[in-house]
Amino acid sequence: MRIFDTHCHLALLYEDPVSQIRAIDEAKREGVVAIANIATNLYDFFTCYKNTKNVPNVFHTVGLSPSEVINPIKDWEEKIEEALTYPNVIGVGEIGLDYFHKYGDRNSQIEFFIRQLEIADKFNKPVVLHNRQAGSDMLDILKSKVPSSGGVLHCFSEDTDFAFKIIDLGLYISFAGNLTFRNAKNLHDVARAVPIENILIETDSPFLTPHAYRGKRNKPVFILETFRYLAQLKGIPEEELATILFENSLKAYKIKSYEIS
Ligand SMILES: [Zn+2]
Repeated sequence: MRIFDTHCHLALLYEDPVSQIRAIDEAKREGVVAIANIATNLYDFFTCYKNTKNVPNVFHTVGLSPSEVINPIKDWEEKIEEALTYPNVIGVGEIGLDYFHKYGDRNSQIEFFIRQLEIADKFNKPVVLHNRQAGSDMLDILKSKVPSSGGVLHCFSEDTDFAFKIIDLGLYISFAGNLTFRNAKNLHDVARAVPIENILIETDSPFLTPHAYRGKRNKPVFILETFRYLAQLKGIPEEELATILFENSLKAYKIKSYEIS
């Protein structure tokens, strides 16, 4: 059985390279054989990429999350574009809108987001999308600027109707550890309703630790809890589900199967 953690933040999980590699190895031993390491800022991207770029089956995205809108570093667009030419840099993210934290004002968040959607299109890379309390603006923007290489709305937390609108745009939705929360009835409904071909799973580590490990910092190996929970919700045997989700992950990130060792 092979599992793909499609969204984790190695740089936020551990600062030192040895611990980052240890978390990757621990996950691999349990069948979590591939990882997408998602950037939130450029400092973390460049340091973590340097540490882990030669680790097989670890892929990277580069981008600025909405929190960076307030004071992005100089020449950030050129730096993202340069990073997109590096080996194993597979997408632009995470990018999006976050009205919960009220970073900057709404217009500057939107402008920042659209600029990065344009970079993704220019480099034919999928996008990794972050949405928090900004669903209607997110949908409007995506509809008017459908990402040409697709992508994924990570840590899905909206309702079923919203999920289908995202899927209609050719994007995937991804469930994180909060799927396993007993009171997440809304998310359980979404997971049951959406076709399995449109779903990915992720840890978003160090955040959103699954129910079974609550109180601990989340790490890639904990994705197995979310995986088993999804198998139960969907009534799909685990072996079969693992195969489908792995294929979905490769498709979403445009990774060829021969690139996985
Ligand atoms: Zn994230």
